[in-house]
Amino acid sequence: MTSNRLRVALQKSGRLAIESQKLLKTCGIKFNINEQRLIVHSDNLPIDILRVRDDDIPGLVMDGVVDIGIVGENVLVEEQLERQIYNKPASYTKIRQLDFGYCRLSLAVPAEFDYQQPNSLSNLRIATTYPNLLKQFMQNKDIAYQDCILKGSVEVAPRAGLADAICDLVSTGATLEANGLKETEIIFKSKACIIQSPATQPDEKQLLIDTIMSRVNGVIQAKE
Ligand code: ATP
Ligand code: ZN
Repeated sequence: MTSNRLRVALQKSGRLAIESQKLLKTCGIKFNINEQRLIVHSDNLPIDILRVRDDDIPGLVMDGVVDIGIVGENVLVEEQLERQIYNKPASYTKIRQLDFGYCRLSLAVPAEFDYQQPNSLSNLRIATTYPNLLKQFMQNKDIAYQDCILKGSVEVAPRAGLADAICDLVSTGATLEANGLKETEIIFKSKACIIQSPATQPDEKQLLIDTIMSRVNGVIQAKE
């Protein structure tokens, strides 16, 4: 399954998809996205673009299935913590921080909740898609709590009686407000980044990555 073509994983659709594609195109990588296709071959360089769910990107890089990927640090660190529990490959190199995908992982409680400090959540149930990042934060503060792990609809969990609080991604806070919640604690600040697999071989691929990265640096510096 080794390929001489550089494999790059991008989010198929969602908040990072357009910016990720735009960045590669600005760096001179030519390709045409076909909505149906998982793999897109570049027209001018030995590069294959894999279009997947963002949650799959860290694992694909850590397992060496792809060489590089563009993903949010929130998803990246969550997957790394999860893999460390099970002794699965969890290493990667962050080769560039990007200037999009800004968000924060925050604790939020119903507006009427009398929140003073993280301790206010002691022994309560917290709904989240990021159980490992939440655990890290709560363990550091030595606070016991219960999990309610949901892949979606986290913000409705308190109203539905599934949890007392939530730990979810926030950008403007409008979703929280619409669900009668208030943000009480930022536990992780995130943006998109480019990560590379420790398994990248041979040298020609590394040279191509280096070329792309110097173009990425140029593109980002030009914007600053
Ligand atoms: P997928 O179908 O790929 O699993 P998703 O629904 O998990 O998509 P998106 O909502 O597209 O993911 O978000 C992808 C990433 O964009 C997040 O993990 C995060 O890094 C970033 N992001 C930036 N702003 C926000 C926000 N307001 N809410 C959620 N994610 C955000
Ligand atoms: Zn996702």
